[in-house]
Amino acid sequence: MKYVWPYIMTSKQIELWVDALLCEKEEILAPVETTHGKFSFERLNDAKKLRLDYSTTLIPPTQKIFMPLNEPVISWTKVDGKTVFSGGAKSEKPLIVFGMHPYDIHALKAWDETMGQKRGTLADPDYVAKRKNTIIIGMDVITPPPHSFCGSMGTHTVKDGYDIMITFIGDDKYFVEVVSATGLYILFSAPEYSDAKNADYKLRTKIRKEVFKKYPRTLPIQKERIKAFLEKRIDHPYFEKTGELCVACAKCTFVCPTCTCCNIKEEPALDGKSGCRVRECDSCQLAGFTKMAGGVISRKTPGARIRHRILDKFDYNHGMVASCVGCGRCVDVCPADIADPVKALIALKEEEISHE
Ligand code: SF4
Ligand code: SF4
Repeated sequence: MKYVWPYIMTSKQIELWVDALLCEKEEILAPVETTHGKFSFERLNDAKKLRLDYSTTLIPPTQKIFMPLNEPVISWTKVDGKTVFSGGAKSEKPLIVFGMHPYDIHALKAWDETMGQKRGTLADPDYVAKRKNTIIIGMDVITPPPHSFCGSMGTHTVKDGYDIMITFIGDDKYFVEVVSATGLYILFSAPEYSDAKNADYKLRTKIRKEVFKKYPRTLPIQKERIKAFLEKRIDHPYFEKTGELCVACAKCTFVCPTCTCCNIKEEPALDGKSGCRVRECDSCQLAGFTKMAGGVISRKTPGARIRHRILDKFDYNHGMVASCVGCGRCVDVCPADIADPVKALIALKEEEISHE
């Protein structure tokens, strides 16, 4: 049974709350405005910098926490003829992720499926260690991201996967829903808040419905039908034609909140006495991604790699949650304007008759 503790706060009370958490030396990752007028999840050092009205961030919070471009996984050094290891899966200081949008929480749930404890013994120990200490304070979207289609993917709201969810309900009032003991503990740092009333609940439902209507884009096919739709179009010429425009920059995957692919590299020091194992971001949009012994590459053309990405997002979910949460970040960054899943499905649908 899910317990819910509903409260109301003003923007000043939220600022005082964050201030109190910072005074308690809590680590907070939160959206702040960058110098270019965009937003980015950064370590917060000043409660005034928190921007709960952000539309989206270029790099998703999941990649900021769990998949930096590269990070040392384990180091080794030889001491008196013996190899001593350091680093590896460890318990980190708790991290509060403040203001995560529902679509990014859906993406985090996908990470839990691919990298987390739901994989049993196949779980990534570094991920599990970090995830255990990650506290999620969600923030319902106020202004949907410019290329998003979360309404079509059912990711505009989220029912679980967070400790606290905040919704702006107008007149400088925020509905603060606490659903875990950790969430309550975090909330109790706030000097001021009040109990929510029935009318506030109703207002939240109304506001959520209004925001849903503001999503700028919709998929041309119902989410449940996409898998079967794509499987009939595996050899569609759209993929090779579009591949001719791809510059293989991999940006569409580096900004995708559900992309978890990485490479592991050994970096021995020149003295041969120490070294490091490094995890670095990898991408299915790069030619070398499928390179095997003997130089065999299984997805040789950019078209084959583009098809793989679309199928990976909508078809190969292996019974897990969807791999596309409709955030639209890939659309924002693609220099060739070809990474957009909505446009891909429209293009495949337009030529439907000749491929039925
Ligand atoms: S495929 Fe594009 S729209 Fe879908 S989750 Fe990834 S970045 Fe967002
Ligand atoms: S689809 Fe676009 S973003 Fe992705 S690798 Fe190709 S050019 Fe880069």
